[in-house]
Amino acid sequence: SLTIGIVGLPNVGKSTLFNALTKNDVLAANYPFATIEPNVGVVGVPDSRLAKLAEIFKSERVLPATVDFVDIAGIVRGASEGEGLGNKFLANIRESDAICQVIRAFKDENVVHVDGKVSPKDDIETINTELILADLQTIEKVLPRLQKESRIRKDVAPKVKAVEEAKEILEKGDTLFGHGIVQGSERAELLHDLHLLTTKPFLYVFNVDEDELVDEDFKNEQRALVAPAEAIFLNAKLEADLAELDEEEALELLESVGQHEPGLATLARVGFDTLGLQTYLTAGPKESRAWTIKKGATAPEAAGVIHTDFQKGFIKAEVISFPDLVETGSVTEARAKGKARMEGKEYVMQDGDVVEFRFNV
Ligand code: GDP
Repeated sequence: SLTIGIVGLPNVGKSTLFNALTKNDVLAANYPFATIEPNVGVVGVPDSRLAKLAEIFKSERVLPATVDFVDIAGIVRGASEGEGLGNKFLANIRESDAICQVIRAFKDENVVHVDGKVSPKDDIETINTELILADLQTIEKVLPRLQKESRIRKDVAPKVKAVEEAKEILEKGDTLFGHGIVQGSERAELLHDLHLLTTKPFLYVFNVDEDELVDEDFKNEQRALVAPAEAIFLNAKLEADLAELDEEEALELLESVGQHEPGLATLARVGFDTLGLQTYLTAGPKESRAWTIKKGATAPEAAGVIHTDFQKGFIKAEVISFPDLVETGSVTEARAKGKARMEGKEYVMQDGDVVEFRFNV
């Protein structure tokens, strides 16, 4: 499955956040015999539709989609030079499908900042610089060979052009994703086998003081620093406390700081989206469940997530949109009211589709 690597300077609250994440590990809760890697936290993507489906279908259990977060050893200035933790860090980050940067905004004097002062802007720059330098190194290693090759093989020319363009952007001190060159896009395709770090989708977690959680001016300033990437604001210590409480107590604590849901829930949802994923839903007496697919997946591809045989023998998908199902109250009623659609092989799955597949075995 796809993973999000958590990175950040030392002492910004990564461990605190990651510990809170692993307390919410759905793998541990739902699959007691699963092997759990110490540096991976598997977090459920909150989806209130599942509880509603469970009510309609009297499901025994509810299974949300999940996102895997990987705790990557702290980045330090000079990481791109491969010193100490540097190499391991870069290798770990290369294996992640998206990068979540944790940025310190909380002011606590008792917690030392590696650069002596709390400045989200400077910290973002420090981290990005390391990633940009690492990408430039990668490019400088392959570019001469590619240029030589393109003199003999014409078909290499577009790739050389793409790599040269990337080099120019990086030399200006910019990330590639900041210029729309992001994994999965057409512009990133030609760079794919270089495994460049700044073509990964980024998201930012600002670890803020509690009063900053509701300070819209402050939050907008930070958002502007990282746009077009998403910014999430949370207090890591508060998240750690929330993870220890039952639902009702947690809600009370959240309300006391002007929040409606834990920051981790937002993080899971935004992370899932940043990875380019979406869900579709299935429901029955055994379980109501959200299944993970890539955005734009077709019905047979979606069926394949449940079982490869479902994809091979795919005939049709019976689809009811979640709002229609809630409004009619049952599959039978939805069918009677013409709200159940039979979709074929070309159908592109939509968010909130409740599905039953028909297939040959
Ligand atoms: P890491 O080095 O990035 O993994 O940072 P840690 O999670 O170990 O946190 C470093 C220190 O900052 C610890 O003493 C934490 O208790 C403290 N800390 C983490 N998050 C917060 C926060 O939101 N507010 C305050 N005041 N302290 C925090």
